[in-house]
Amino acid sequence: VSQQQRVIDLEAARGEVFDVAIIGGGVNGACLFNHLGRMGYRVLLVDKGDFGGGSSQASAMMVWGGLLYLKNFDVATVARFSRDRDAMIRDLGCQVSPSSFRYVPSRVGRMKKQVTILGLYLYWILGLFRQQRPRFEGSYREKEFLGNPRHDGSFLYQEAVLNGSDSRFVLGWIAGRNSHGGIALNYCGLDTAQFHRGDKCWRLQVVDRIDGRSLEARSRCIVNCSGVWTDAVNRQCGIKTPYKHVYSKGVFIGFERESWHNSPLIFDTTEDVLSLIPWGPVSLWGPTETSLSTIENGINPEPEDVNFLLEWADRHLKRKIRASDVVSLRCGVRPLVVEKNYSENRYPLELSRRHRIVRDPEKPWISVYGGKFTSCVSVAQKTAEQIKKLAPRRRNPFAAPPDAAADPTEWEAFPGLRRQVPSVKWCIERERCVKIEDYLRRRTNISQWAPRGGLGKNGENIRHLERLALHFADGDSSRAGSMIRDYRRDVERRFDAVLAEVK
Ligand SMILES: Cc1cc2nc3c(=O)[nH]c(=O)nc-3n(C[C@H](O)[C@H](O)[C@H](O)COP(=O)(O)OP(=O)(O)OC[C@H]3O[C@@H](n4cnc5c(N)ncnc54)[C@H](O)[C@@H]3O)c2cc1C
Repeated sequence: VSQQQRVIDLEAARGEVFDVAIIGGGVNGACLFNHLGRMGYRVLLVDKGDFGGGSSQASAMMVWGGLLYLKNFDVATVARFSRDRDAMIRDLGCQVSPSSFRYVPSRVGRMKKQVTILGLYLYWILGLFRQQRPRFEGSYREKEFLGNPRHDGSFLYQEAVLNGSDSRFVLGWIAGRNSHGGIALNYCGLDTAQFHRGDKCWRLQVVDRIDGRSLEARSRCIVNCSGVWTDAVNRQCGIKTPYKHVYSKGVFIGFERESWHNSPLIFDTTEDVLSLIPWGPVSLWGPTETSLSTIENGINPEPEDVNFLLEWADRHLKRKIRASDVVSLRCGVRPLVVEKNYSENRYPLELSRRHRIVRDPEKPWISVYGGKFTSCVSVAQKTAEQIKKLAPRRRNPFAAPPDAAADPTEWEAFPGLRRQVPSVKWCIERERCVKIEDYLRRRTNISQWAPRGGLGKNGENIRHLERLALHFADGDSSRAGSMIRDYRRDVERRFDAVLAEVK
């Protein structure tokens, strides 16, 4: 019963010729799906896992103009990100809110103060004065909670943040009426795709990862939005491009938020910055920035990531944060675009965070490289421009803009959380929620806000989780119990074992 709509969609996908098939339901694929649907295209989106389950579930949730990239004099990228940020604030009011950020340098000498304020003014100018004017503040409320006595001044400037969460932002482009008649399938991975010159259509071989069955779908055009997996998907389908991704791992720790922490704070490290971001009942501290040779090395946080973050928390915060205070770990891999022949090993922050949209010269295939939350709408618009040249539209465009409130959410309580969360039943029926992990991590923030993936510090929520799991097990209590045992083992491996090794 719970997955009825998914089965209907799988069947519908078999028989149709789509205008566009999108591979990957992260922020880039989801936003494009919505954009093309509104333009009147018939769109199929497939994701090998859950929607928003890749890098898009691990971000800092900042919609920002890229202040940090001014360090590399990447003025063009900063101007573009600032424009994209301001367009999102303007057009996506319910999902994105302006927010004051406070940069607290380790030491504010006269020179540092002048250089920083100059940089912030340049940033403000590149944002065409659309945000509040930056300013220096010597005394500020948070100061008494910071550990470094040299934290004697701070700089205030304006950015924006995602409301809710990054995964929910992704889902907002896909779920309910926002699909605009397109079909979005999670747990369906693209295996291969062949282009048939006769009917000018791709045949996509897709594997349903829930029941292992294969499905063939047809589409006039394919857009590869598979984030850090973009090169792998291109290789599988014989597509060559002048670019590739290099990878950078980023880890956050979450700990209980104190009442003074209400807006993002930015601190220096030796070569980078770290942010303290208020998010529901937790403060997120991070992210790290580590080059990776393979994606697999970056899927899980390691004890040294947590050690690094705790060390720097010790330098910047008065309150002592210990491994036992960590409520959640958050880890993701950034897709950074470089030229194909790039072989240096530069620090990831020195690499440009621009995106690239590459159209294959022979076949109707577009690859999206890089891209951030901040630029998702402009990436979708630019990709749609390319698609117009490849696939004619066959339906009238939809008039309605994306509407997060289109389908009113049903809410329920979760032990230990003050805010209610979307109900499990509602998420299964309306939001393609297939597994208990989808619910705990992406439909709600339970696994990031309640300790140990939602199990509770001493496992006190296990009974409650078993009751939630009944919805995924069609009421079979032994299957629900086994789901939670598997989930618990996963938490022990990815969370408990990592923290047990922290110094
Ligand atoms: C620590 C960290 C902090 C960040 N902070 C910010 C921030 O504050 N602001 C910001 O704007 N950006 C931020 N980013 C960057 C941003 O999160 C990513 O650039 C963005 O999420 C990438 O989205 P995507 O859609 O390209 O990729 P993904 O979200 O990874 O989506 C790709 C999808 O493709 C699917 N896929 C892969 N292979 C296949 C296949 N064969 N078949 C079907 N599906 C497939 C995957 O399952 C995945 O869901 C941050 C990133 C990290 C790691």
